[in-house]
Amino acid sequence: MDALLADLREFLANALPAWRAKWPDQDTWEAKLDWQRTMAEGRWTTATWPEEFGGRGLGTMEMLAIEDVVAQYGAPQIPGMIGVKNVAPTLMRFGNDEQRKSVAKIANTDEFWCQGFSEPGAGSDLASLRTRAVIDGDEFVINGQKVWTSNGMYATHMQLLARTDPDAPKHKGISAIIVPIDTPGLEVRPIKQINGGAEFAEVFFTDVRVPVANLIGPLNEGWNVTMTTLGHERAGVAVFAGRLEQRIRNLVEDVTKSDTQISPIIADELAEFYVESRVLGMMGRQMLAKIAGGVAPGSESSVIKMVWSELSQRVDTTVMELAGIDGITGDANDAKVGYLTARSATIAAGTSDIVKNIIGDRVLGLPRD
Ligand SMILES: Cc1cc2nc3c(=O)[nH]c(=O)nc-3n(C[C@H](O)[C@H](O)[C@H](O)COP(=O)(O)OP(=O)(O)OC[C@H]3O[C@@H](n4cnc5c(N)ncnc54)[C@H](O)[C@@H]3O)c2cc1C
Repeated sequence: MDALLADLREFLANALPAWRAKWPDQDTWEAKLDWQRTMAEGRWTTATWPEEFGGRGLGTMEMLAIEDVVAQYGAPQIPGMIGVKNVAPTLMRFGNDEQRKSVAKIANTDEFWCQGFSEPGAGSDLASLRTRAVIDGDEFVINGQKVWTSNGMYATHMQLLARTDPDAPKHKGISAIIVPIDTPGLEVRPIKQINGGAEFAEVFFTDVRVPVANLIGPLNEGWNVTMTTLGHERAGVAVFAGRLEQRIRNLVEDVTKSDTQISPIIADELAEFYVESRVLGMMGRQMLAKIAGGVAPGSESSVIKMVWSELSQRVDTTVMELAGIDGITGDANDAKVGYLTARSATIAAGTSDIVKNIIGDRVLGLPRD
């Protein structure tokens, strides 16, 4: 592990300054893609992938250690997280040989994937989704609508969930299908966000035809395929916990080093954040150790998700307070964007209400009514 992390530190010490010099405006999409390609060339984003897919074949504990070092160096997050962390592992497990050719392209950004799961009326209750895919000869004909599609405006491909058997119980009769975004009949519309971004999309399907060969896994088994995908998302929560821990360390360090006078209330908040983030980080490592030992993550992923999302919002509120009037006028734009972006943390990948239901039901064994 020490040698691995020394390699990574050397890589980042060279690659990060070179990337920053190349892209004075590091917020552009091209700059972000370039950073993902740089990380992929070093096989750092794909470290847990098997070697046959261009990874290093490492375990989850090594992955967390890598993420820690990346966070310590202040490297940006890669934009294609959904593809790398969710879609590619799904294709490795369920895809056929042709579909698996996408795995390497996902790593180097030749392909950029989104997940078309949520619909108006089917978010928390995803299994209620109504987008239909009907088999006609050797093609699926797709009609319906998806919403809140992260990176939908940049995607080249979608992992779509559509209903293929409307008569089956709602968790059955759903299939996972690959849809290239440039397929005729597919329309992507941006959703302008409160934080100023517009990479979110709603996606409309009108008689969209794709080959039946684009089916991922067996017909009508899309729920299982999806749960695998979301399972990867949950493991990713431990990584977010680690990132938040590092962020709070940096925040405390910045505040103590600067001349800024802080009120006792802010000092109290910072101390609380520090303690909570340390506990969160430990829980994340504990969960990954379990996964590494072949044990499925249980309740801790829900607890981490809830604490992480709510703590993130409190931290961004304090950062906004520290920025003062500059945060409101936009002179401290990062504080403002961070504050507004953090509002989504308690909605994405399961709202806090749903997570509390899961904790009450599966962890505490509380009665449902
Ligand atoms: C940043 C972000 C990124 C996202 N990316 C994607 C993506 O890439 N692809 C994709 O498909 N989707 C994506 N989503 C959508 C996300 O999965 C849904 O927003 C989420 O599942 C909630 O569904 P909903 O918005 O339809 O709200 P609803 O499910 O309609 O919920 C509305 C409110 O009712 C509450 N509620 C609902 N059911 C219950 C219940 N049983 N008990 C108690 N309270 C309940 C909820 O907590 C919420 O407060 C993203 C969302 C966000 C915020």
